[in-house]
Amino acid sequence: MDMKETIRDQFTRHFGNEGQMYASAGRINLIGEHTDYNGGFVFPGAIDKVIMAEIKPNGTDKVRVYSVDINEYAEFGLEEADAPSQQWARYIFGVCREIIKRGGEVKGFDAVFAGNVPLGAGLSSSAALESCFAFAFNDMFNANKIDKFELALIGQSTEHNYCGVNCGIMDQFASVFGKAGNLMRLDCRSLEHEYYPFNPEGYRLVLLDSKVKHELVDSPYNKRRASCEHVASVIGVETLRDASMDDLEKVKDQISAEDYNRAKYVIEEKQRVLDVCDALQRGDYDTVGDRMYKTHEGMSKLYEVSCVELDYLNDIAKECGVTGSRIMGGGFGGCTINLVKDDLYDKFIETAKAKFAEKYGHEPQVYDVVISDGARKID
Ligand code: ADP
Ligand code: MG
Repeated sequence: MDMKETIRDQFTRHFGNEGQMYASAGRINLIGEHTDYNGGFVFPGAIDKVIMAEIKPNGTDKVRVYSVDINEYAEFGLEEADAPSQQWARYIFGVCREIIKRGGEVKGFDAVFAGNVPLGAGLSSSAALESCFAFAFNDMFNANKIDKFELALIGQSTEHNYCGVNCGIMDQFASVFGKAGNLMRLDCRSLEHEYYPFNPEGYRLVLLDSKVKHELVDSPYNKRRASCEHVASVIGVETLRDASMDDLEKVKDQISAEDYNRAKYVIEEKQRVLDVCDALQRGDYDTVGDRMYKTHEGMSKLYEVSCVELDYLNDIAKECGVTGSRIMGGGFGGCTINLVKDDLYDKFIETAKAKFAEKYGHEPQVYDVVISDGARKID
């Protein structure tokens, strides 16, 4: 049975009738890393890995929901005090509460959901889950009056207020706004966005998950942020978005070598996103790939958020002649994202698996991704 049939089947078993189906997607970010809190650009796209849910109002003030993948059932009310204990259910509860807090409507419903976005691999399964339900509640209970950006904000607030994750807006934005064959440049200062065609014929996008996560995520992240804020204040701008390399050179003597490197990475990364947008409009995937490698190098040498495992995957990609490769996400573990020519794909995957396993004792997990639609209603 495919995912949709499984959900339909489980819905009938649990609730004895039929609801409406919705889905939303996980996401990749092609380029633009550690730029969000510097007012810069990110460049995500939704992928062909989704959370799918069947939902039906049940005429009560209670929610009853079954998670196929976790094989757990939760039941909760819609008041603030009704928060469920299961983590997965808190994402759904949070979305309900955030809509209600904003003056929107959510009534009792029954739901069954499942997904194929890998959990915790950096593809944002949580944003897919939030966006799926936020989109559904907008359609079902609010006559689609909540605008799409607000749906993304509802997902983000859910993470902040009900799941203890202090995330930015990119993941939920990408999941809600995603369009097949398009990446989106999101300006993290103005929150304006623009679609760019991404149809890399003859290429594939593949993620290699190192399956390592170095346990130093919070404090280095805060230190990077502090460096960026400090350099911005010495230059006299609000964020590094407004600084050029010339500005940075002028204050070089007033800041530490480390802070200089951090700021250099951010300023260069802003330009790399713009370069990639231009290159995509020309269909120039070599330039896209070149900037991906440069981002990796910057994250590794200047921003220092890589790790040996990810550097090794990047080296293997380079040796194999892969068009572009870089760390995806904040760093210190997780995946590389790779733009690979079709005819190189098999050799690359085989080589990466063998070499990585030889050195680190396990193979990287391979995720093929295609840029696809985000939140939607399905028949
Ligand atoms: P990610 O990077 O994938 O977003 P998170 O830790 O933020 O990782 O979110 C993962 C959490 O989202 C899971 O622990 C679970 O609570 C919820 N989740 C994601 N996918 C599913 C699913 N298919 N079924 C149930 N819960 C899910
Ligand atoms: Mg998440």
